[in-house]
Amino acid sequence: MLLLLAFLLMALLLKKAFCSWLCPVGTLSEMLGNVGKKMFGKTFFPPRWLDIPLRSLKYLLLGFFLYLVVPMPVRAIQTFLMSPYGLIADVKMLNFFRFIGETTLISVIVLTLGSLFIQNLWCRYLCPYGALLGLFSLFSPFKIRRNPESCIDCGKCAKACPSRIPVDRLIQVHTVECTACMSCVESCPAKDTLVFSITKPTGAPGQTHRRGISGMVMALLLTLILGGTIGYAKYTGHWETNLPEQFYYRLIPGSQMLSHP
Ligand code: SF4
Ligand code: SF4
Repeated sequence: MLLLLAFLLMALLLKKAFCSWLCPVGTLSEMLGNVGKKMFGKTFFPPRWLDIPLRSLKYLLLGFFLYLVVPMPVRAIQTFLMSPYGLIADVKMLNFFRFIGETTLISVIVLTLGSLFIQNLWCRYLCPYGALLGLFSLFSPFKIRRNPESCIDCGKCAKACPSRIPVDRLIQVHTVECTACMSCVESCPAKDTLVFSITKPTGAPGQTHRRGISGMVMALLLTLILGGTIGYAKYTGHWETNLPEQFYYRLIPGSQMLSHP
């Protein structure tokens, strides 16, 4: 729960930075996209008429999970968490992939192959976690901001954006799709024209002022939030379970038999 709060805080402050800077699935997806680009010499994009409805799928999945979880009374959540299934839910999840079923295997293969063709296939279209962070990211004071006075309209930022945002045509990037990856900032040849900042960059060419944060500062802020949360959880005794180890020795060998309560 504390980690979830930490990731929501990241989204509130720094857009969907979790997706591009921390998420292991996002990293894998990015790697597959890069391999695909090398193999085929390009990335394939679904046409806009298909891209928009596909992007809504992750919100439908998020809605489905919220529909299941939100009406649950606190007592029912506690009962679930303390049930044998809830106590070793992570082992069940591991087993889900260790003893992979046919449907799961086909889904993983389709997603892996699809990610070679379409960059960030899972993140862009299906991840409900990314959808949730995207909604929180709308309130982030930090945004990608462009100074039209010093912009030379080269279009490199839009080309570098893995989320296909037309950065070169925007003054501020509001969209829920921005993962604060900073690729656009890195690719911009006009000094201090494109920044990840709270305030607008201003100034004519050659007289711009740096107002944004660098990739290094971003990494530092994310480390601080994550490290601070883990430190707090450890300090307050919320990091490790209080249950005795014998509990797990008894439950884990029979985990395959446990079904959802
Ligand atoms: S390239 Fe820029 S606009 Fe595109 S997702 Fe990354 S930070 Fe956001
Ligand atoms: S890369 Fe920089 S200079 Fe080029 S269009 Fe984007 S903001 Fe303007």
